[in-house]
Amino acid sequence: MTDCVFCKIVAGQIPSTRVYEDDDVLAFMDIGHVNPGHVLIAVKRHAENLYALEEAQAAAIARASVRVARAIQTAFAPAGLSVYQANGKPAGQTVFHYHVHLVPRHEADGMQLTWPVKNPPREKLQEYAARIVERLPRAQG
Ligand code: AMP
Ligand code: ZN
Repeated sequence: MTDCVFCKIVAGQIPSTRVYEDDDVLAFMDIGHVNPGHVLIAVKRHAENLYALEEAQAAAIARASVRVARAIQTAFAPAGLSVYQANGKPAGQTVFHYHVHLVPRHEADGMQLTWPVKNPPREKLQEYAARIVERLPRAQG
């Protein structure tokens, strides 16, 4: 992806402040920086979003998230940590190359995600669940 900013970061064609990498992922400081220690963990091989991710990439992102989160925790001692990941413009995605945000959190730090709870009846939840379950692959051992 020649016009993808995160592909350019992975390739070293534009500057970044790197904190971690392995074969599948690169972690670097978010230039927008919501709070000190805000890190992005991106896949190295371009994938636009969660749907496009290979399972090996997903595993690598999870492993790196745990490692980097623990380092953030000891380095900054935040009161909390938000893991944020957006797929598609309505979800808030602005860079269309899969990445996860690790955002150190503090009381009243101004970061907000409105959560418009609906509390549907159990039958509705079962109906929604059935639509998902029938499309899932069977669990592999
Ligand atoms: P999202 O809205 O989840 O797609 O997040 C994209 C994030 O990428 C934003 O938080 C930006 O601040 C960050 N970002 C964009 N360009 C760069 C860059 N060149 N280096 C580091 N972070 C970037
Ligand atoms: Zn890319």
